[in-house]
Amino acid sequence: MARELVRRSLPSGQTARVVMSEAADGDLAVGGPEDLLTSRRKAVVAGRWTWLHQVHGTTVVDVSEPGGGSGSLADALVTATTVAPLAVQVADCVPVALISSTGVVAIAHAGWRGLADGVLERTAEAVLTRGGRAAEAVVGPHIGACCYEFGQDDLQNLVDQLGPSVRSRTSDGRPAADLAAAVRAVLDGLSIPVAVADGTCTSCDDRYWSYRATGTACRQAMVVVLEEAA
Ligand SMILES: [Zn+2]
Repeated sequence: MARELVRRSLPSGQTARVVMSEAADGDLAVGGPEDLLTSRRKAVVAGRWTWLHQVHGTTVVDVSEPGGGSGSLADALVTATTVAPLAVQVADCVPVALISSTGVVAIAHAGWRGLADGVLERTAEAVLTRGGRAAEAVVGPHIGACCYEFGQDDLQNLVDQLGPSVRSRTSDGRPAADLAAAVRAVLDGLSIPVAVADGTCTSCDDRYWSYRATGTACRQAMVVVLEEAA
């Protein structure tokens, strides 16, 4: 079931929480019956979520009220508003949350294309624009190199864009992309430490939906939310 990856008490008096759903929490992919989705979302994190129509791009939506910007064609969100949960849906891609101690949070959907095009850089910039500075990153479950076979040419293109750390091997020795290493390389370049990295492979582990493993259209969600101190 959904679990908290991080809970931080901020100097601002607010609390930042990052929660990850699992398949057991139900399908959180956009497009299902809205009332069903709403009840599933509430069971994971209370409040009116901002969700996105994700397109493997680099657009970051600035959210200034709960639910604001929902349905935007974008892959990242930022807010300084409390009780405005920000969500990305994933089933192999990497969900990444950023927390600023000044009370700004952000989240990004990072697949290989978005990583190569700079979605994490744009998200960190959006935190700055909002008056914060990403002090830590939280990386959720995603497909491991163990299961993420890549053709040699595609992999070389990715290495050219993201550096040699992305080159890896599947568990049976074929060329593979290591998205976790790519995320770490980008965050290192931005001087953002990774506070929590859940290295669970969505393809290996039945608790998660995996597009690569089964071709499913179902998605789990990562949610980041700022809350006022109790
Ligand atoms: Zn795996």
